[in-house]
Amino acid sequence: MSKKDFRTACAVCNLTIGLEIDHVNENHFDNSSGNRMTLCKHHHMEKTRMGRDLFKELLQLTRAHRDIKDTTRQTAQRWILKKENLKSNGYQLEMDINTLMTHNRNDT
Ligand SMILES: [Zn+2]
Repeated sequence: MSKKDFRTACAVCNLTIGLEIDHVNENHFDNSSGNRMTLCKHHHMEKTRMGRDLFKELLQLTRAHRDIKDTTRQTAQRWILKKENLKSNGYQLEMDINTLMTHNRNDT
């Protein structure tokens, strides 16, 4: 995986929407490249919920098993889309993934 891919997709599920930068050692003043990991909103939240050690296991599991990674990505995608929909407007609840991704691209 190239350096560019690392920054543009979630380290756990490869999702390319709703990305955030996580500080691996939880020190927010340490911005060295080794301490920054790209995570989608879902997995950033999961990391906080699980704790570092359990999260590390999840990371290893998704790296070793493609099917687990795929399932994890679907879960994360659903979670993020649901959150985005609640944030934007109430009457567009069924906004599909392609629309949202195009929307995100145009934003940046
Ligand atoms: Zn993710």
